[in-house]
Amino acid sequence: MSPDRFAALWRSLAPIGRTPEGYQRSSWSEADLACREWFTEEAADRGLTVETDGNGNLWAWRGDPAAGDAIVTGSHLDSVPGGGGYDGPLGIVSGFLALDLLSERGCVFRRPVGVVAFTEEEGSRFGVACLGSRLMTGALDPARAAGLRDRDGVTLADAMKSAGVDPSALGPDPVRLGRISAFVELHVEQGRALAAPVGVASAIWPHGRWRLDFTGTGNHAGTTRMDQRHDPMLTFAFAVLAANKEARLRDAYATVGRAEVSPNATNAIASTVTAWLDARAPEQSTVDGLIKAVTTKVTDRATRDGTRFVMSPESLSPVTEFHTELRDRIVALLDGAPVLPTGAGHDAGVLAAHVPTAMLFIRNPTGVSHAPDESATEVDCTAGVEALATVLEELACR
Ligand SMILES: [Zn+2]
Repeated sequence: MSPDRFAALWRSLAPIGRTPEGYQRSSWSEADLACREWFTEEAADRGLTVETDGNGNLWAWRGDPAAGDAIVTGSHLDSVPGGGGYDGPLGIVSGFLALDLLSERGCVFRRPVGVVAFTEEEGSRFGVACLGSRLMTGALDPARAAGLRDRDGVTLADAMKSAGVDPSALGPDPVRLGRISAFVELHVEQGRALAAPVGVASAIWPHGRWRLDFTGTGNHAGTTRMDQRHDPMLTFAFAVLAANKEARLRDAYATVGRAEVSPNATNAIASTVTAWLDARAPEQSTVDGLIKAVTTKVTDRATRDGTRFVMSPESLSPVTEFHTELRDRIVALLDGAPVLPTGAGHDAGVLAAHVPTAMLFIRNPTGVSHAPDESATEVDCTAGVEALATVLEELACR
């Protein structure tokens, strides 16, 4: 396939939700709905049947999924706030193009093939990563999901209703899941771990998100003596540094990238700070040790600051080892493509507990992700489409 063909389809999606500060495609936003429309049109152009499942995940089918033993590829269309264009959409664009290649090659499909766009993989709006795939597989309670609120207080149920999707069918979907015999997600690589254009995933590191609540006493910045303050901002600042230090000590990753301060005024000592910690490592025991150390150190610091500190898990993902046999088969098909683990979570990680699952990674020359500089070359993306087509042909046409 010529890189121009990749570029042409890429260009049709690229402007949606793009701002000077990066992509804004949070789930069920106007941009997300426009992406969904794009998906539906591209599927229709290819004669694929489109359906939205009870969890808002979009499916485009070649063949009848009810026949079962289906092969599915795809990823997600949503972005983090200010995200890059490749994380998610690359897997969907590549899925459509790979199907085009197979049709042109005259492949005889022995199994139905689907391209899926999972809802809210990033967890940027409602706080739970892989929302759509977790709901489908039963890993997330539908009642809890329906009541999740975004920063403006809008619930997931209401956001879905506003988009014309009935939220009453949220929840496990064993019938749909049972029809899938393999899932292959193609994704941009998100570090600098890949020197070749295409790689194959071995595992996803265990990772999680914790909410950190710091409570102190709001007061006047000009009249409250320094030794009489209960300033939660200090405990918060300590927590950020402690998480960083404890992560470095263990070769783990810890990030505090989001915080809310109340009342958030220049001339007032804060009364509360809420922050979110993201922690990841190759081993679960390392993540556990990191969280334990941070909890102990920050609790001690809170005592000294006269503040209160509570840390609660919001979403936890254990290590995911991808299906070894499928992975080895794909590596052989792709002439010994490099195999690598990732610290990033994916819908494929959720699916892997239920169906044989694999991931293809596409080289990211900047190593940047979840930021506007995220990139991949047209040539590498085209190599990715060809690799995905090779994999789908093997799985669906033989
Ligand atoms: Zn992603």
